[in-house]
Amino acid sequence: MIENVIETTENCRYCLMCRHVCPVGHVTRKETLTPHGWGLTIASVRRGMLEIDEKVAEVIYSCADCGTCRANCVTDQPLPSAIGAMRAEIAEKGLAPQGAYDVHEKLQEWQNPYAQQAPDLASGQGEVALFVGDDARYLNQSTLEAALLLLQAVGVRPVLVGIGRNNGYLPSSLGFPNTAAQLIQITLDELTSCGASTLLLLTPGDYYAFGQMREERLGLALPDGLTLQEVIPYLAEQQGAGNLNFRKTDEQAPYAYVDPTHSVRVTTRYDAPRQLLAALMPKPGLELFWRRERAHPLGQGALQYTNSHIATHLNYARLADALERGAQLLVTEDPAGLAQMERFAGRFRLRVQGLYELLAGQLA
Ligand code: SF4
Ligand code: SF4
Repeated sequence: MIENVIETTENCRYCLMCRHVCPVGHVTRKETLTPHGWGLTIASVRRGMLEIDEKVAEVIYSCADCGTCRANCVTDQPLPSAIGAMRAEIAEKGLAPQGAYDVHEKLQEWQNPYAQQAPDLASGQGEVALFVGDDARYLNQSTLEAALLLLQAVGVRPVLVGIGRNNGYLPSSLGFPNTAAQLIQITLDELTSCGASTLLLLTPGDYYAFGQMREERLGLALPDGLTLQEVIPYLAEQQGAGNLNFRKTDEQAPYAYVDPTHSVRVTTRYDAPRQLLAALMPKPGLELFWRRERAHPLGQGALQYTNSHIATHLNYARLADALERGAQLLVTEDPAGLAQMERFAGRFRLRVQGLYELLAGQLA
């Protein structure tokens, strides 16, 4: 766990080195809503120069917690975690936006923000488990079905865990670290009961939550011997080794891959989805401007509950980026990201396609 992570703001408050990559700064064009703006605001509160009122709380809750600043910081400053720590102080004082408390209540009662339904029990026993989560359970169920078909094609039949449970990122980002730790611990206990030694994750967001975020923000340990593996890089590895083959599609529309939210936090994953797409698309894909190590987030996560206006504009910005590059079809694998893009793609005359579904449909 990073001790006194909030001290990071002392390094960020007069630094402009990642300002140009911050997606919220881009869509709002407000200096307060840039990395050094948040650094300075938090440092001022801590010096007693600024009182936390509704306006200050709104500023602190307007960061997307996307990690793009840190991914572009030469000294690897954990600014998003520092903002999270400040939110925890604000939430504790009862001064957070109401949306944060409303979602927190749902997470405490149902372990997800979408449905009044407790998570299903793990599906059995086995060495390999797959975390389903709440996004794949409630936002886009075809993601899971397709991922299971692909894994089956390479002989992997995972036990399903966390079916309908949040991965802990949402409460952490909203300023409720205890709830985040509880949700992760329930899934880790489930894994231990299943006898799993590998946990497969469907998205970079899940990988970040169970990896770096769990360790740095919550100080939770993984069960002994447990390894984390993201599914898309695993499938790319299998395809590269000749164990997974695809038929080419007859899709002629120009397409672009959209790096899912949190991709910048898993820097080894950028090539894998592109390699898989190249195996089945007849033509090379286009690239968004905000891609790979500078990939911007969609409007999912905490921001949609605390500042839906900015969250919506993050979606618009990504769709506009695709349009400017000449894409007509967008492909991504994150069920929450797919749901966000599908809400607004029609306005931009874009089509959206799930990567897992596309791959499963072309299995040779
Ligand atoms: S995260 Fe790094 S680059 Fe960004 S403001 Fe802080 S110190 Fe500067
Ligand atoms: S986490 Fe994202 S939105 Fe927040 S300061 Fe960093 S780049 Fe900007």
